[in-house]
Amino acid sequence: MAVSGIGPYDRENIFAKILRGDIPCRKVAENDVALAFHDIAPAAPVHVLVIPKGAYVSLADFSARATDTEIAGFTRLVGQVARDLGLDSEGYRVLSNMGENAGQEVPHFHVHLFGGRALGPMLA
Ligand code: C5P
Repeated sequence: MAVSGIGPYDRENIFAKILRGDIPCRKVAENDVALAFHDIAPAAPVHVLVIPKGAYVSLADFSARATDTEIAGFTRLVGQVARDLGLDSEGYRVLSNMGENAGQEVPHFHVHLFGGRALGPMLA
């Protein structure tokens, strides 16, 4: 399925390779539908990526095609990781880049979870 600004799902993208076990990641947690791992180039003391195990290009694609079970399980893993890493009390930021204007680099849907310091104002 082509998604505006990105194109069809590419099974050779880097997160697909991580899901297949072809390349390693520093896993934080997983459930039936999603995987969380540390970003390789952290932009904050805590910088975790949460990705669905299914083949979705972006939030636009995931929100349109994923099952309610996938969406619920994915969302629960984001919250669980934040709790387990002790981010709830001081707060954190969840962000997803969608497509060209947002500078999405990896064409497999993911959210960034940032925490561990004051993150400053959200930049457009
Ligand atoms: O949202 P965007 O697509 O730009 O972010 C991709 C993220 O994936 C980057 O923060 C990058 O550091 C991360 N990455 C990673 N492990 C890889 C390749 C990219 O954590 N092997």
